Amino acid sequence: MKKIAVLGSTGSIGTQTLEIVRTNGDIQVTALAAGRNITLLEEQIREFRPGLAAVWEEERAAELRGRVRDLDVRIVSGMDGLLAVAAETDSEILVTAIVGMIGILPTIEAIKAGKDIALANKETLVTAGHIIIPLAEEYHVSILPVDSEHSAIFQSLQGGQRKALHKILLTASGGPFRGKKREELENIQVEDALKHPNWSMGRKITIDSSTMVNKGLEVIEAKWLFGVKVDQIQVVVQPQSIIHSMVEYEDGAVIAQLGTPDMKLPIQYALYYPERRYLPGERLDFAALTEITFEKPDMDTFYGLKLAYDAGRKGGSLPTVLNAANERAVAMFLDRKIRYLQIPEIIQACMEEHRNIESPTVEEILKTEQETYEFIKKRW
Ligand code: NDP
Repeated sequence: MKKIAVLGSTGSIGTQTLEIVRTNGDIQVTALAAGRNITLLEEQIREFRPGLAAVWEEERAAELRGRVRDLDVRIVSGMDGLLAVAAETDSEILVTAIVGMIGILPTIEAIKAGKDIALANKETLVTAGHIIIPLAEEYHVSILPVDSEHSAIFQSLQGGQRKALHKILLTASGGPFRGKKREELENIQVEDALKHPNWSMGRKITIDSSTMVNKGLEVIEAKWLFGVKVDQIQVVVQPQSIIHSMVEYEDGAVIAQLGTPDMKLPIQYALYYPERRYLPGERLDFAALTEITFEKPDMDTFYGLKLAYDAGRKGGSLPTVLNAANERAVAMFLDRKIRYLQIPEIIQACMEEHRNIESPTVEEILKTEQETYEFIKKRW
């Protein structure tokens, strides 16, 4: 029986991961970690019976301890709790479905403990790819992409020759504001930006999709996962979200992965790789499918994507600034403290302010994150 641990089990990716575990019935969950939602975590503990569970705040952990007294489960908290979930149990795979840079340290700990990583948390590679990828090689562990685009690239590379990979064609839906110009986005409200045309996801990533910063983070993530230069990655807008990404080989052949937009496919593929399993759900119906269209991304309106390309090219600590500034700006937008168009403005200002560190340590990455937050707090 395959054994997994899940960081961020109460979130969008976390709950879908557990749905796959439930449907297949042959995976054991050894550990779970959540942020604040102890009600759902309690339900998950009762259903999947892990021996270990983590909650971020000790106060909530104490409450959960009381609630699950009748079960044989250890409840831990804080960063030590996340590290324990990542590395202490006998899981073979750690699913990193937590949101934010908080995922870096547990991922490192899991790699050192020899666990494969089913990676959803894109912040880890965006900010610390230069540490994670060599470490995974050193410890001979696999990084299995969960992000649908990266899974599509990974699937398109199966059976092909990695060294003959010429270019990655990273597809994007274009989000709810595709086709609009910057001035038309002046009065965008939280509710408008939360309406993704094709995918159902967590709130933060849904806003990131609307600004295309998400695609920018994915460009940097792809650079690390597939060992290519940022300029070998071309973003292609494919509004129907049927092609999940493609690779072009040296001879010009393009291989793509297509499917209905359902995150369970990439999650299940990562959990059972290289095996493919039956997955219930809608199938592409080529008789009903009328069109698949393509566009160039509008990097003037959605210049967060351009900023991400810049950060990815320059590397160092700049992608951390991009990510931290975006994270804080999105949170402020969701709290209705800033306007929609201020999100890329804030990112740009933070990137301009920053003095790049070429190959930052984890400590320097986390310090850069804090400095970016402080800069934003002072200015906005
Ligand atoms: P959600 O916001 O839905 O879930 C985040 C999860 O992280 C929740 O379980 C939350 O717990 C947990 N969490 C947050 N802070 C802490 C903390 N301090 N300690 C422990 N757990 C914590 O996010 P998503 O599932 O949408 O995204 C997760 C990651 O996957 C992100 O990096 C995202 O970019 C990436 N991703 C998501 C996709 C999607 O379709 N949703 C697609 C591709 C990538 P709680 O709710 O209990 O507070």
